[in-house]
Amino acid sequence: MSNDKLKFRTRAIHVGNEPDPKTGAVVTPIHLATTFVQPGAGEWGEFDYSRSGNPTRKAVEQTLASLEGGCGALAFASGMAATHCAMMLLHSGDHVVAGMDIYGGSYRLLHKICSTSGVSVTLADLQSPDGLEKAVTPKTKMLWLEGIGNPRLTVPDLPALTVQAHKLGLIVAVDNTFATPVLMRPIEMGVDIVMHSATKYLGGHSDCLSGVLVAREKAMLDRLYFIQNATGGVAAPLECYLLGRGLKTLELRVREQSKTALTIARYLEQHPQVASVIYPGLESHPDHARAAQLLDGAFGAMITFEAKGDFERTRRIVKSTKLFHLAVSLGAVESLIEQPASMSHASYDAAARAKAGIADSLIRLSIGLEDAQDLIEDLDQALRNA
Ligand SMILES: *Cc1c(COP(=O)(O)O)cnc(C)c1O
Repeated sequence: MSNDKLKFRTRAIHVGNEPDPKTGAVVTPIHLATTFVQPGAGEWGEFDYSRSGNPTRKAVEQTLASLEGGCGALAFASGMAATHCAMMLLHSGDHVVAGMDIYGGSYRLLHKICSTSGVSVTLADLQSPDGLEKAVTPKTKMLWLEGIGNPRLTVPDLPALTVQAHKLGLIVAVDNTFATPVLMRPIEMGVDIVMHSATKYLGGHSDCLSGVLVAREKAMLDRLYFIQNATGGVAAPLECYLLGRGLKTLELRVREQSKTALTIARYLEQHPQVASVIYPGLESHPDHARAAQLLDGAFGAMITFEAKGDFERTRRIVKSTKLFHLAVSLGAVESLIEQPASMSHASYDAAARAKAGIADSLIRLSIGLEDAQDLIEDLDQALRNA
């Protein structure tokens, strides 16, 4: 049976995971070898040196490429290493247009690192129909955005933006960390590069720092591979193994966590201590209709809400939950709570925070795999007692 006929969750388990031909092991071995015997001097086998290629890494890259529908994938030591590799496609003088609500670390990379090598960035309101047009210059080479934005969970019109950006000759790259390929497959919408912080949902258990780039076309994959091999930010074998293991349950986790998130979002919406709830699955979300169209059957497991009260009360709320851990990161089996203004978006300056709608009283939840009712009771006691 050809792999592309198989359903998502079957591919998550089987693509890249052939039984080991030598031992029959059904699980991909963790290949720690850094160097591989060559057939002869100047003759190259499939693997020669582990930065350039590693069998455990190759296995998980095959799974990732299949899940995102790309021609190939590259696994990195972190999401930021993956993002940096994509940015190294650009040269001095080039310009990037990025979404206004990109991940804090991507904001910092663009403003503090890429800028020093002459690559400039404009953050654009990609929710407005002429947002991209207004931000591009003759030097613009790339559009960088998130499939579901952070922390206001905006869902841009990715198919339309991709068409528009391609007409302008831009590379379109999407950070698909929040949506995961379970809910959104940007390559099917024409996007050139998909990036993941695999540290989040793909790994899924808060124990595997890693990142991914998936390319739609071979020529792009080759360019990215050249940069990855030249700069060396590859994922280590143990992380590749953990990531591959996480992928096997990705669809089940994301669907279940999304279901719980919808229940909790509805609960928070009617809570007397809550001013507003931001969740794409709620009719009240400005992008609800588009999210229903672009996301595959669920709305993700991230919720942002505004508590009643000021910065200090918000700090007390996020400190008062017992099941929700007070921590940055997201996407794992355990639920997390955080205050974007002082945590995930602290690298934004105050003006950028205001522009991206990151109020002091905003709280972000990453919904895990716990029982929905237990999570609701935990939030309720924190909101009442803080
Ligand atoms: C965490 C995260 C990143 C960065 O990934 P790391 O694995 O922490 O380097 C990038 N984008 C988004 C949306 C993230 O949540």
